[in-house]
Amino acid sequence: MAQKHKIVIIGAGFGGITMAKYFKKKNVDILLIDQNNYHNFQPLMYQIATGGLEPYSIAYPVRRIFRNQKNIRFRMAKVKSVDVEDKKIKTSVGSFAYDYLIIATGSKSNFYDFEGIKNILFPLKSIPDALNMRSFIFQNLEKSLTRQENESLEEILNIAIVGGGPAGIELAGALAEMKQYVIPKDFPDLDVSKLSINLYQSAPRLLKTMSDEASQKSLNYLQKLGINVFLNSRVTHYDGDELILADGSSFKTDTLIWTAGVKGALIKGLPKKSISRSGRILVDAFNKVRHSDSVFAIGDVACHNTEENPRGEPMLAPVANQQGKLLAKNIIRIINKKPIHPFEYKNRGAMATIGRKKAVVDLPNWKFQGTFAWFLWMFIHIISLIGFRNKFVAFFDWFTNYLTYDKPLGLILRPHKRK
Ligand SMILES: Cc1cc2nc3c(=O)[nH]c(=O)nc-3n(C[C@H](O)[C@H](O)[C@H](O)COP(=O)(O)OP(=O)(O)OC[C@H]3O[C@@H](n4cnc5c(N)ncnc54)[C@H](O)[C@@H]3O)c2cc1C
Repeated sequence: MAQKHKIVIIGAGFGGITMAKYFKKKNVDILLIDQNNYHNFQPLMYQIATGGLEPYSIAYPVRRIFRNQKNIRFRMAKVKSVDVEDKKIKTSVGSFAYDYLIIATGSKSNFYDFEGIKNILFPLKSIPDALNMRSFIFQNLEKSLTRQENESLEEILNIAIVGGGPAGIELAGALAEMKQYVIPKDFPDLDVSKLSINLYQSAPRLLKTMSDEASQKSLNYLQKLGINVFLNSRVTHYDGDELILADGSSFKTDTLIWTAGVKGALIKGLPKKSISRSGRILVDAFNKVRHSDSVFAIGDVACHNTEENPRGEPMLAPVANQQGKLLAKNIIRIINKKPIHPFEYKNRGAMATIGRKKAVVDLPNWKFQGTFAWFLWMFIHIISLIGFRNKFVAFFDWFTNYLTYDKPLGLILRPHKRK
């Protein structure tokens, strides 16, 4: 009997999970590897950072996703390198051979010139990042009540967010609502007017990848919520206590949240020529890694640049899902010696929420904002969560927040100390 083809997928994110699911009942052996034992629904991570949801609502155990899929094995391990000649990968738990390798490792924060001080910034790329941020913000609120009258509160009650994309504005909106509805009730002896939320965006508008209407409306929403939004404002220096902008102005804060950019989470060993200048893996229209054989990349880490799309596909969950599905079909077609199909992104729209009844939605033929957009945003996010329990818990938490204007507890479960 012919041996089954060995397909190794690195990354149990959106792309990796979609792909692995497609292989159910196909005559192949799948090895899925991730450094975590759970799938993380990143679009709702800002809710963890602000106490709107608890981690178990957006994370789901990988093993449980595949309980009923017999042809898959999962290993929790960090993949260190790939040997494309020998068709092997090296991981923290040993080496594995492959016939086809799929790299679906997503992206990591790009700190640009701030790489050297990344340990004092607060990124938002993982659940531990979100928990650190939440602990630090609540620790500062506690600290503010024990400071002497002559001591300044500025540094610990000013929050700076760098980056005006969806992650930055959603986080800013949630923090503003926390300031408005939750902190006055939980910290009655704190002068809440001293807490300020400041958003710095180097570009002239927010949500650069969405329509002008979405940018303008999100700016209005944020300003209405009392957030100080600084457009055309590039942060050039930060020492842990004070940030300095390109125009020379400065701002005191010990909480600098970094949502200003991401780059591919690369694996060592790929040919140098297959890495783009923006740190992603260059692939062809079939997601095959350039200058390599039997190695493919999908999702955030992959970059297929064409003349009309010189920076590759956008780094979004639907792109990873669509690429995962098509590549799975194509691999089965390759095994069966059939022709394969090129990838074409079907853009079904983009959305972002800024707070209660405030969201912006760009569909291909319709752009709208406000309450209906907010309900649609909630609906899409709830149905996209993995597992009935996660959907139910998120729905229940949001519904009670909606009625009570309150949020879950903002527990400091694991105090955070900046390094
Ligand atoms: C805060 C935030 C908000 C976002 N909001 C939205 C949104 O509203 N809408 C939207 O469409 N997109 C949003 N995105 C982007 C979206 O999450 C990504 O585009 C999507 O997750 C990409 O999927 P992926 O499969 O490529 O990678 P991921 O989902 O990131 O999965 C990659 C997986 O690879 C694993 N991994 C990485 N390196 C290794 C290694 N060396 N060894 C083993 N495992 C490894 C990781 O642990 C992870 O599980 C958001 C992202 C963030 C961070």
